[in-house]
Amino acid sequence: MSEEVIVRFPPSPTGYLHIGGARTAIFNWLFARKHGGKFILRIEDTDAERSTEESIQGIIDGLTWLGLDWDEGPYFQSQFAHEHKQVAENLLKEGKAYKCFCTREELEAKRKKALKEKRDIKYDGTCRNLSPEQIEEKEAAGMPYVVRFKVPERQGKIGYDDKVLGRIEKDYREIEDFVIMRSNGRPLYLLCNVVDDIRDRITHIIRGQDHMSNTIRQILLYEALGARPPVFAHMPLTLDLQKRKISKRTHGEVVSVQWYREMGFIPWALVNFLVLLGWNPGTDQEIFSREELIQAFSLERINKSNSVFNYRKGDPKFFTDPKAISINAHYLRTMPIEEIAHMIKDDFKKEGIWLDAYEGEKKKWFLSTLDLIRSRFHTLKDFARQGRAYFADDFEFDPKALKKNVLKRPELKELLPALASELEAVESWNLETTEDAVRKFAESRALKAGIIINGMRTVLTGQLKGPGIFDVMVAIGKDRVIARLRNTPNLFET
Ligand code: GLU
Repeated sequence: MSEEVIVRFPPSPTGYLHIGGARTAIFNWLFARKHGGKFILRIEDTDAERSTEESIQGIIDGLTWLGLDWDEGPYFQSQFAHEHKQVAENLLKEGKAYKCFCTREELEAKRKKALKEKRDIKYDGTCRNLSPEQIEEKEAAGMPYVVRFKVPERQGKIGYDDKVLGRIEKDYREIEDFVIMRSNGRPLYLLCNVVDDIRDRITHIIRGQDHMSNTIRQILLYEALGARPPVFAHMPLTLDLQKRKISKRTHGEVVSVQWYREMGFIPWALVNFLVLLGWNPGTDQEIFSREELIQAFSLERINKSNSVFNYRKGDPKFFTDPKAISINAHYLRTMPIEEIAHMIKDDFKKEGIWLDAYEGEKKKWFLSTLDLIRSRFHTLKDFARQGRAYFADDFEFDPKALKKNVLKRPELKELLPALASELEAVESWNLETTEDAVRKFAESRALKAGIIINGMRTVLTGQLKGPGIFDVMVAIGKDRVIARLRNTPNLFET
């Protein structure tokens, strides 16, 4: 590509950052990074009633958290209101647009009539050819007007080559003279968006298929404004299993980026998941590093058909699409452990298990313990929750685990404290010595080690499953192991 690539993400700040919006941002960002271009953040805040500061902040925080750095902006559409208006007025002056005095009632009546007669319902052009005197007269009478774009009278079709969908065309005769400025003098979004894209020298517009209804009309505006239209790439929508658009109203928090942050997602894992929701590499590869993804990404491999967000509301095991969970688990289990330690820091502080273990002598133990326990985890939250017993003494017991591994085995009431006394004698506390002591104890009582080991797992960690028990014993440490085993009888009391 010879000319510089410039793309933009122009969210309307009327709510949280939706995962669909984030996906749009990701595709634009990847495209810019791949071509060494520019990624611009432009907040489309012209709808003053619905735009909020909170939403702007949420969008900025969400993009930052995802690691989608922008090269310019944030620009605010509202700052250019004067320019938008000027452009509409120029189009009027140049005869490329005209004042339309038709009232809402008149238009509605015509629409109904056309519908009844099964005719085209587009605007019939009543005001298109008013004489200057007629216009003056109506204005003098104080009649309100909108400004309509004068669609050129041409034969044939207008179209563009969509990078995802191929050739898209529309017959000129099917396009009505659309409104570009309301009767209150405010230009319509359709126009503002084009004016901003021209000013920002946008070369590629990558956006959802839900914006396609605007594209042909916007191409006409580019032409009228003497600008070359950018390349368009319309991405598939993301639907749920019932083929509905995913929204907060229907699906709740699961569609907001912030929620994934709160649930303990690794930002890049969410990016990786969202990319696959609408793009495919043409191979089986599912996990992509930042560099790999930038390399592999292309507009041509964006899927044509809608993507399915596989989420069953109310199923706690699948708190989001299972694919998202498994991708997150993959990163959680394979990323450098120091990075994981860094990501859970705030959570550990909040949960009151801050161990001051990021520096100094505890650091090695802390990192190796995180590394040990992560193999079964799915989110960063699991470290402070399921993993709490490794870092604190006030941990909870999973009721199922307690019942199965402890309460159903009343003999453990006596056995585990007795084992604790044997363990007192272990001098150097490591994998071999702990295993040796536990096995000898089981033998001496003619017991299967399994019963003791399962019981210990729950007594020591509160969990049903976990890493190998001797690893657990070493990670938790001699004194705490002995104290917890001695406490076993109390677990039967509750
Ligand atoms: N502000 C629009 C939105 O949030 C973006 C339109 C566009 O990409 O052109 O959906």
